[in-house]
Amino acid sequence: MNKDVIVIGGGIIGCAIAYSLQKRGKSVVLLEKHNLVAGASGACDQGILLQSKAPNEHLLLGIRAMEMYKELGRELGRDLEFTQKGYMLLMESELECRVMDGIIEKQRALGLPVERISADEALRRQPGINREEIVGATWCPWDSEVNPYMTALAYADRAAELGCDIRTRTPVTGLVMEGGAVKGVVTPQETMYAETVIDACGVWAPEIGRMAGLEIPIRPRRGQVYITEAVPLFMRCNLLNARYIVAKHHPELLAGDHSLKAQLGVGFCMTQSGKGNVMFGATREFAGMDNRCTLDGLREVLAEATRLMPAVKELNVIRTMSGLRPYSPDSKPLIGFVDGVPGFFMAAGHEGDGVSLAPTTGKMVADLIIDGTTDVPAAASFNPNRFDLRPKAP
Ligand SMILES: Cc1cc2nc3c(=O)[nH]c(=O)nc-3n(C[C@H](O)[C@H](O)[C@H](O)COP(=O)(O)OP(=O)(O)OC[C@H]3O[C@@H](n4cnc5c(N)ncnc54)[C@H](O)[C@@H]3O)c2cc1C
Repeated sequence: MNKDVIVIGGGIIGCAIAYSLQKRGKSVVLLEKHNLVAGASGACDQGILLQSKAPNEHLLLGIRAMEMYKELGRELGRDLEFTQKGYMLLMESELECRVMDGIIEKQRALGLPVERISADEALRRQPGINREEIVGATWCPWDSEVNPYMTALAYADRAAELGCDIRTRTPVTGLVMEGGAVKGVVTPQETMYAETVIDACGVWAPEIGRMAGLEIPIRPRRGQVYITEAVPLFMRCNLLNARYIVAKHHPELLAGDHSLKAQLGVGFCMTQSGKGNVMFGATREFAGMDNRCTLDGLREVLAEATRLMPAVKELNVIRTMSGLRPYSPDSKPLIGFVDGVPGFFMAAGHEGDGVSLAPTTGKMVADLIIDGTTDVPAAASFNPNRFDLRPKAP
């Protein structure tokens, strides 16, 4: 088989890329070793959360993606459950307020309408928050949510309608290499050839990288969450605690905290879907490729959620789940051709932002492959060659 592009990985990133390329006239095959959305994209939250983005290129990419999401449902012909009800970040200490003030100032300079609000105002916006535990909050009306599962499947379905060949239960087990260039992939069924092979395998991206002699610096960062039964809509906005942001952008400030909660990177996030189910979590832990829920993780997440939002105790949990976020060392995804390995393109490492950034990632990849350039903001800063991808000498 001969195609223009082979996309490896059927998560939200691979599906967005397959659609974006096929839409622009490329012939594409997407290969997924299990079912579509079998990885992190099927075990994650729904936030298009701009406040959580570092006030740099990452935020610009997120703002553009949020704008794209507003039109995406219509473009794909599917209700993606996109809504824009804003997020509040709950602050519990003066240290968090100081850190958040610094971040907010920079985010506002990049155009994000985010503001500090009092604890009383936070309660007015979302009744039920534990007033005793917070000293204030931040508020951003542009923060949104979308159903990640539906989005990935809608991308895949539309790509297939346009002619994309989507194959599930088709693991890539090797790459076809000629003179250092990638020419195709090997699967248990057949060998396929293409001008470009895209590694969109999330936390499994390093496995594909190794087939090309590369060391991709992506590590799994587990997140454990709860899902409750559907209840009448009571969440007027979505919630996150500022500690999650402090831990993400300034881990050094929490270095002295040796509690189990800190070790597991437990933060508080809570959203309610349009159907009424509430999701709350989450841990942010390095636990290798083990994507099981743990008693310690779930206990700490529950303690955190009931402390900040006591009404959680009234909800019936119907399931728990955990997924592996593809962490990269500078928290930014790796998107672009890899120097020295012609034909090999990386699109992985979105950590906790892959849902938010899927539309801009798809567009950026299609632009770079077809035009060699893109108008997606600050695309160069996601170039994978910012890392040394050559294997280190033993
Ligand atoms: C608890 C939790 C909450 C989250 N909340 C949010 C949020 O609110 N907002 C947000 O933006 N992001 C969130 N994320 C992050 C988001 O889920 C990820 O960034 C995103 O799903 C990554 O998508 P992906 O397509 O790169 O990877 P994945 O979805 O993991 O897809 C990779 C795919 O590659 C396939 N694959 C692997 N190896 C091979 C092979 N050899 N051959 C073929 N296929 C292969 C896998 O089976 C898998 O389906 C959250 C994550 C977690 C865990």
